[in-house]
Amino acid sequence: MNLVNRRKSERKKLEGIEVYSRTVGGYLGKSMDISLFGVFVLSERELPVGAKILLELNSSKNNSIIKALGEVKRNNISFANDSHQGKGMGIEFIHIYEVYKSRLLELINKNWVNSDEYNLGDFFNIPSDDLFFKTESAFSYLKDMEAKGYNRYRTMLLSSVKNRVNVLDQKTNKVKEIIMMGSSDYLGLINHPKVKDATKIATEKYGMGSSSAPLLAGTSDLHYELEEKLAKFLNFEEVIIFPTGYMANMGCISALVDKDDLTIFDSAIHASVLDGCKLSGGSFRIFKHSDIRNLSMLLSKYQDKFKGKLIVVEGVYSMDGDLVPLPDILGIAKEFGARIMVDDAHGIGVMGKNGQGTVNHFGLDDQVDIVMGSLSKSLGCLGGFVASSKEVIHYLRYFSKPYFYAVNLPPPIAASALAALGIIETEPKLIKQLWKNTNYFKEKLTISGVEFNHSETPIFSVTVGEELRLKKVSKYIHEQGVYVDTIPYPAVPNDKTRIRMRVTAMHKKSDLDEVVSVIHDALDKY
Ligand code: PMP
Repeated sequence: MNLVNRRKSERKKLEGIEVYSRTVGGYLGKSMDISLFGVFVLSERELPVGAKILLELNSSKNNSIIKALGEVKRNNISFANDSHQGKGMGIEFIHIYEVYKSRLLELINKNWVNSDEYNLGDFFNIPSDDLFFKTESAFSYLKDMEAKGYNRYRTMLLSSVKNRVNVLDQKTNKVKEIIMMGSSDYLGLINHPKVKDATKIATEKYGMGSSSAPLLAGTSDLHYELEEKLAKFLNFEEVIIFPTGYMANMGCISALVDKDDLTIFDSAIHASVLDGCKLSGGSFRIFKHSDIRNLSMLLSKYQDKFKGKLIVVEGVYSMDGDLVPLPDILGIAKEFGARIMVDDAHGIGVMGKNGQGTVNHFGLDDQVDIVMGSLSKSLGCLGGFVASSKEVIHYLRYFSKPYFYAVNLPPPIAASALAALGIIETEPKLIKQLWKNTNYFKEKLTISGVEFNHSETPIFSVTVGEELRLKKVSKYIHEQGVYVDTIPYPAVPNDKTRIRMRVTAMHKKSDLDEVVSVIHDALDKY
């Protein structure tokens, strides 16, 4: 960020810190303000714009020195306030040594972190002797976001998730109905009467909780039935269920990939895949999003360096809603003798015949080695699973730590997933309605002129740009009564923050019309 064009800071200015530069012979003057990006110095000296100097900021109050490389961006600026008056210059930090970054944040944080000037990524990996230091900085950032009405995370819902939900309006403190565009309950099965009934009956029979790991005393007939039905639905020999989709990815990859092996995954992959790779002890590489040539290039580069190879892709990419180029990826997997795993968390129940998923959509049943799925999206409850050959699934049951060291899904959840699966198979009108709504929304967005990212599914995203615009756009949209996902850095690159919307079978045309109009106005306004 350019120091000269910086937004006017609302926080108390950091005055009185002594600023030195050995490069230009010592003392420069006292600070009029300091941020993560630079310092304004009240100084008799006039250094030329563009001069690069080594700086030392000396805070005797905090007993710390901060060193940085700076560039003079402006000189001859007039400063005047209650205690100081005179001329000075604006120096931008072009490099701050890691060890000093935390001290600088500490200094700023003692004042207040102005959330307009930071993003969540600034609070990762701040080196400090105190592990909790970063939590205090991040807390201050989040509180400032809250105070400005930017923070929409953990919105408190007061009703079940449908096309519209009740929330507490932060301004009026009254219950307000808003349109929900952040739900992955694509078919509306969370509230389906058959799902509720099955869950109630199972709760009566089994109670809540399964009390033990699946390999020990935690597997009921419902778990067996769920695994069998999922395997049949997806055309695989066997399925293993995990307490969450996150654990399914982690548990599968970490058990199969060993230290001499390579996992290679798409740059837009879900965090659980990366964590699985880290846990595996094997190596991993990332190929550019859906870039077949890049995948092929990396595989040929590492062909001899590693033994087993696993390619991991998503069926439906959860960020923008685009589909994996599966036929091409399969071709490459065959060419290099790599196994292929598809995370189809957002494809199952949405894509393919009767919602059988993205692999089925491409007519590639029997050709993919592993499909991972979630029970928390179209299946409307909680849990994850992996489908593969009977040998692979047996191996996972005995060698996947997130499976055998965690308690099994509660039986009522297994009953709920079973009922949801039954509905997907017998009520195709829900998937039809989902696609009708999806196409309607896409058409309306296109007509309105809102530029959205390439989507082939009910997931839509709009790139908003830098973080402050995202904060303002999303605040406006929420205030107008529409919930959208706010996706900041580091989930996406710094200048490509997004808002994300998900269409469900439950939405009415009038809901979608309103959403398009509000998004259009927000982007127009900011
Ligand atoms: N994979 C993808 C692509 C996802 O979007 C998610 C959920 N955000 C997961 C895995 C994890 O699934 P779960 O929420 O069931 O843990």
